[in-house]
Amino acid sequence: MTSDDPIAAKVTAGERLTAPEALELYRHAPTRLLGRLADAVRERKHPDRVVTYIIDRNVNYTNVCVAKCTFCAFYRPVGSPEGYVLGFEELFRKIDETIAVGGVQLLLQGGHNPDLPLSWYEDLFRAIKERYPSFKLHALSPPEVIHLSRLSQLPVPAIINRLMAAGLDSIPGGGAEILVDRVRKALHCHGKASADEWLDVMRHAHRAGLRTTATMMYGTVETDEERLEHLLRLRAVQDETGGFTAFITWSYQPEHTELGGTEATGIDYLRTLALARIVLDNFDNLQASWVTQGGKVGQLSLAYGANDMGSVMIEENVVRAAGASYCMDEVEIVRNIEDAGFVAKRRNMHYERLGDPMFREREVPRMLELATARAEGETPLPGELANYPARSRAGKQLRVISS
Ligand code: SF4
Repeated sequence: MTSDDPIAAKVTAGERLTAPEALELYRHAPTRLLGRLADAVRERKHPDRVVTYIIDRNVNYTNVCVAKCTFCAFYRPVGSPEGYVLGFEELFRKIDETIAVGGVQLLLQGGHNPDLPLSWYEDLFRAIKERYPSFKLHALSPPEVIHLSRLSQLPVPAIINRLMAAGLDSIPGGGAEILVDRVRKALHCHGKASADEWLDVMRHAHRAGLRTTATMMYGTVETDEERLEHLLRLRAVQDETGGFTAFITWSYQPEHTELGGTEATGIDYLRTLALARIVLDNFDNLQASWVTQGGKVGQLSLAYGANDMGSVMIEENVVRAAGASYCMDEVEIVRNIEDAGFVAKRRNMHYERLGDPMFREREVPRMLELATARAEGETPLPGELANYPARSRAGKQLRVISS
């Protein structure tokens, strides 16, 4: 396939591709051509050559999870001695550290812990907003919202409304994996949310006035058609609601997982990213996933459709558990953006630009390693947990021991 091909010409003209056209392009276009087409879409949407990033912290409030997805190396079962729940004070300290390096929000996600009721989340969000009124909470992916809905026997819209009333600002698009039920069943993640359920949480969130992101984890058991179906389903919801701010894709990280296997290559990543940029014509922003691909492929992403370098992160637990541990602080992210010929700007969760790099405005400590959820020696069971009823037998026993 060459740039004269009618499908390539359609992309260049800014026309929407059908499913068969997109599949043909993905399977047969040389990587260079896919990149050029995706870059043309990026250029149309962001002609000023600005590449954004956000200073925020990726915090996992618990690793205890009943879902047991086979691709996940992060979770621990209920009752595991390695299970943890972060205390409110620990979370406040993480927010203080985030603000100290110019951070504006927490990306807060965790396992489906049966011993954390809805009131724990509401109290936490309220406490954070009381202490840090302008700090944003980009929190709880759709499967976590569904978990809370089942746990509290309340419908999803009611959960979203209650979390919003407590301080939720935006929902991250985690837990999407591949939005095709055959794949979800094979990965044991259909129980936590079917494809329709995941999309419905986003519809409800958008209708309630929240903006959210969308993600895709590829490279497990899906076919090319299923990867594409995932993108087309996101495109359809975006046509309906316009509520997605951005799309982020990353490859499955196989180490220490039950599923095992090998990681997709860098070229597979760049081709998938480029396909997403071409198919998701109604999404404004595409993030580069440097945390799974490393800084160098992350930087190359800017030539394959990405216009955002994602987050400085500060902390990372999930991808690290599966074997990848890349770190880039603000200085390094900006160096990669500028070296690729773009202008670096800080942004907020709505992709509004906040300004030039923070480290050029004031002294910010260098960060050469990402932090983990919990430093050694910190209390395994935070005191305030005694105020919340546990559902599991192990959780009830722990409450008794610690009271
Ligand atoms: S991916 Fe999320 S829901 Fe699945 S086992 Fe891991 S922590 Fe639990």
